[in-house]
Amino acid sequence: MGYVKDLKCRECGREYPVAPVYVCEFCFGPLEVVYDYKSIKKVLTRKVIERREKNLWRYKELLPIDGEPLVGLNSGYTPLLKADNLAKEFGVKELYIKDDTVTHPTLSFKDRVVAIALTKAREFGFDTVACASTGNLAHSVSAQGAKAGFKRFIFIPATLEASKIVASLIYEPNLIAVNGNYDDVNRLCSEIANKYRWAFVNINIRPFYAEGSKTHGFEIIEQLGWKAPDNVIIPCASGSLLTKIWKSFKEFKEIGIIKELSTKVFASQATGCSPISTAIKQGTDVIRPVKPDTIAKSLAIGNPADGYYATQVVNETGGWGEDVSDQEIIDGIKLLARAEGIFAETAGGVTVAVTKKLIESGKIGRDETTVICVTGNGLKTQEALNGQTISPYYIKPNIGSFEEVLQKIRRGGK
Ligand SMILES: *Cc1c(COP(=O)(O)O)cnc(C)c1O
Repeated sequence: MGYVKDLKCRECGREYPVAPVYVCEFCFGPLEVVYDYKSIKKVLTRKVIERREKNLWRYKELLPIDGEPLVGLNSGYTPLLKADNLAKEFGVKELYIKDDTVTHPTLSFKDRVVAIALTKAREFGFDTVACASTGNLAHSVSAQGAKAGFKRFIFIPATLEASKIVASLIYEPNLIAVNGNYDDVNRLCSEIANKYRWAFVNINIRPFYAEGSKTHGFEIIEQLGWKAPDNVIIPCASGSLLTKIWKSFKEFKEIGIIKELSTKVFASQATGCSPISTAIKQGTDVIRPVKPDTIAKSLAIGNPADGYYATQVVNETGGWGEDVSDQEIIDGIKLLARAEGIFAETAGGVTVAVTKKLIESGKIGRDETTVICVTGNGLKTQEALNGQTISPYYIKPNIGSFEEVLQKIRRGGK
């Protein structure tokens, strides 16, 4: 058996037994998983964790499942890379990339949340899983759902990047491309979720699904040598990942795995869809929905479900919110590739470019330890780089033609 006590409304505190429910019947507040930390503290130590397999289930007592994991044994424990070249570029002492572009089977952090969601869906007895997605979730549910043998209904905005659509289609789910943006898709899915008895991973399974994001945070602390960083820079779509990374840090403190916690949490968005960073900058926790217009499609949620809670975390920890233009995102992707050999998707361009801004504006100190969360692989959003990369040298298949080019390259100093 697991260590979950019950579900609790984040607004009024009313408690609910564990079930596929996600909003409070009385005040419509979101439900959150509550654990028995006293019991977890007795069994989960650094040593126990270190002895386990290097996947996201190594923290299983702090994840909301009762039995054995169904999927995700090949997900998580992604690298924490010391980014010395980027640190030099930004003029700071210690910079790390938490690199979720690799290791996961579908190359984004969504494999973390989906591992928990599908395991829980099976425990609840569902035979069909579904999701509303900005792309990466579609990819992950399509793939992991295939492995676990679920029927799958995947809903996406029809305007998604072609590479993300193919990445889902290859697993042969029922892919429904909706003529509208993510917020339209999500609204439709809430209606469908009320009518059909399906496990919508980010709707009726959301309280459990969202807990999977904590593993990104647990790994940061473990890989830093069991300490929390001074700053963490997190991309925001619905704001869930941000609130859950903070929850993971607090849980490790609660059960005694770390003693100190004074991390500042920073929210990062694309300016073309920045309801959360805008609220933070304006000093309000009222999220004003926007119509997304940005190349960072994986973050393009105009009406973020956890936006309010994300601003609370940022304010509580003394962090800040910042956003960057599409050109800055592209420059961020290119800089990360050039400096650290990592090809990130647009969300990674967002966090790198935001970090640069925060350092330049003095919100992040130059002698502090900072972790940048890079959450998805660049091969998934190649369209965003059309006309933005350097070009190949075209030659004829003979040595003369090559050496002509070589001379040009050498004159250019490469
Ligand atoms: C979904 C996603 C996020 C953040 O999602 P939240 O809804 O804020 O939890 C970040 N990066 C990538 C690449 C994503 O796909």
